[in-house]
Amino acid sequence: MIKIPFLRPNLVRQDTFTHYLSQIEKSRWYSNYGPLNTLFENRVLTEYYEGNGAALTVNNATIGLMLAINQSKRPKGQYALMPSFTFSATPLAAMWCGLEPYFVDVNKDDWCMNEELVEDLLKKLGDKVAVVVPYATFGTNVNLTFYKELHETGVPVVFDAAPSFGTTGSNGPFGNDFPGLIVFSFHATKSFGIGEGGLVYSADRELISQIRQAGNFGFSTNRETISQGLNSKLSEYSAAIALATLDAFPEKNQIRQQIYQWYLEEFRKIPKTNKEWQLQKTEGEIAYQFMPVLCPEDQSNIDFVKLLADNHIEGRTYFSPTCHQQKFFSSFERTLMPNTNNISGRILSLPLWEGIEKSEIAQVTKILAKGLEP
Ligand SMILES: *Cc1c(COP(=O)(O)O)cnc(C)c1O
Repeated sequence: MIKIPFLRPNLVRQDTFTHYLSQIEKSRWYSNYGPLNTLFENRVLTEYYEGNGAALTVNNATIGLMLAINQSKRPKGQYALMPSFTFSATPLAAMWCGLEPYFVDVNKDDWCMNEELVEDLLKKLGDKVAVVVPYATFGTNVNLTFYKELHETGVPVVFDAAPSFGTTGSNGPFGNDFPGLIVFSFHATKSFGIGEGGLVYSADRELISQIRQAGNFGFSTNRETISQGLNSKLSEYSAAIALATLDAFPEKNQIRQQIYQWYLEEFRKIPKTNKEWQLQKTEGEIAYQFMPVLCPEDQSNIDFVKLLADNHIEGRTYFSPTCHQQKFFSSFERTLMPNTNNISGRILSLPLWEGIEKSEIAQVTKILAKGLEP
């Protein structure tokens, strides 16, 4: 019997969106960028981005990444530069666009793609780089200065920001003012969960309007297909849930930040030895999806997952195996991976969900402390 599960998705209750559902019955408009979808996009834009740029819903982030990459990739390009320490959806999306992932190592401290390695590769590969696809690891507010400049000098940038909706930093919500593309996921397991769904944001309205068209079979205004489109539309039912989630989100976000703080407190209580738990160096305020931590050097995350399981607690090792360690992706080119390989053996993802109690967090960290080898 599991006492503390890893995730317990907590989507908005039925009574918070029935009034939106009634509007669907009245309008008899069920999809195709209907009124609820438009309301949701407009609210995201005004309530989060102060009206800067444009936002477009999609039916999941993987499709959002495919559209974003396909719409912005350089025509002669072959490679999509991306970290190996990400979810499979990132390389898969590039492959669906006819590109080869090129895996890049991450930094030791924030676990995000190393920008110097990206610069070196751009010098080496030139026009062969079709697009750069960084990942905002576990929702952190990556400083976008480097990537903004890259995008403006002609190397398109598409951010996998799947868990980042609700993250804010000194420049406002994540992605604010960014001329490339930012792709968020609204999957049930993400902090802004609606079941299936996602959002593409850019400061470049024209780019978003091209993607909107591509997401509707590439139709021009007279329903002639003029680009390699697909169907990425969010149904009005999902838009209803998204609107109710937007209403509830400030509170959900606060709860998640509070739980993260409890973890920090409890980790500080673990007696100091020469074995240290390493937390991610993050920026900004994050609506954490789960609690990622690196177990001490020379110890294995798998052993801690087992130890937790023996105590009826569920832990995971997101994202290990990393992409280049999976057979399907292993033949793609890559940089040396010292940091990724190190993190892969140590990354432990701990329970974090709305409703978990402080005492349960303390149970988790107590058990971790027991597993420290002398
Ligand atoms: C969840 C996730 C995705 C996929 O999102 P979907 O909406 O489920 O397609 C992509 N990349 C990362 C890093 C994720 O965490």
